[in-house]
Amino acid sequence: MQLIINNLNKQYGNGVLALDNVSLTINKGMFGLLGPNGAGKSSLMRTLATLQDADSGEVMLGSIDVLNNKDAVRKVLGYLPQEFGVYPRTSAIDLLDYLAVIKGFDNKAERKEMVMMLLQKVNLYEHRKKSVSSFSGGMRQRFGIAQCLIGNPQLVIVDEPTAGLDPGERNRFYNILSEIGEHVIVILSTHIVQDVRELCTDMAIMDKGRVLFSGSTDEALREIRGKVWEKRISKDELPAYQKEYKVISNKLVGGKPLIHVFSDEAMNSGFNAAEENLEDVFFAKLNELV
Ligand code: ADP
Repeated sequence: MQLIINNLNKQYGNGVLALDNVSLTINKGMFGLLGPNGAGKSSLMRTLATLQDADSGEVMLGSIDVLNNKDAVRKVLGYLPQEFGVYPRTSAIDLLDYLAVIKGFDNKAERKEMVMMLLQKVNLYEHRKKSVSSFSGGMRQRFGIAQCLIGNPQLVIVDEPTAGLDPGERNRFYNILSEIGEHVIVILSTHIVQDVRELCTDMAIMDKGRVLFSGSTDEALREIRGKVWEKRISKDELPAYQKEYKVISNKLVGGKPLIHVFSDEAMNSGFNAAEENLEDVFFAKLNELV
């Protein structure tokens, strides 16, 4: 199954153009939607999840017309929103069972089997009797994944899922997501480059409602290969460098800035060729350098 988005537009009442002619083709596997805050990612995710209407455009999930056949989409959709909302003082097992009832799973025995399988999948089985409100941030996100997998969705949407997770929790979360991505379309919306680098083979970069890049992460890296140069400078030199060069990023390494500069031509004056990374692509695209 493929998700095909064609010329999607959305303007809010306050005049903000959140989706500006967005077109994307998304295949099975992990797809990273990368963009800074305010880029339009959540607007796109909410539209795909049938929670909000677009002004114009077309979205097809296989043969399902997403914008006009919301009930059909909801049957094959799993959605983990940015804010999962209230976490009641109900045990994980009871809450999942309840959510499965809401999704229309009437057979108690089948439901129980599914709930147990989901708890195992997200490594919460041993915590199944604990109240979800007592869970850590990482456990809550894993619970969120379990609830969005009820009913074997074909399209899974996760919006900013790793914000606030510590490295261990983030890794556990990554592992679960990438396993899911082997079977269905998973769209991971995030402003964290590392999420996309570690998980996704295909990606898009969005800013100000527009798609600036879409393709494989390898293609994205190829666009800047050989064009990124790095140099260690002192802090007070930074403004002058920013004026003279196309500085993509500056990071403190051991307290001193390490700048990455974009240039088609080979650079000398103390610059070395840098190994290209996705963060460079991200900033180069946002700053319209490539
Ligand atoms: P992201 O998820 O990438 O941070 P959003 O889709 O949340 O981006 O927001 C895109 C733009 O639309 C932002 O400028 C945001 O302020 C604006 N926006 C989002 N939701 C609404 C809304 N309900 N009403 C008005 N403006 C909104």
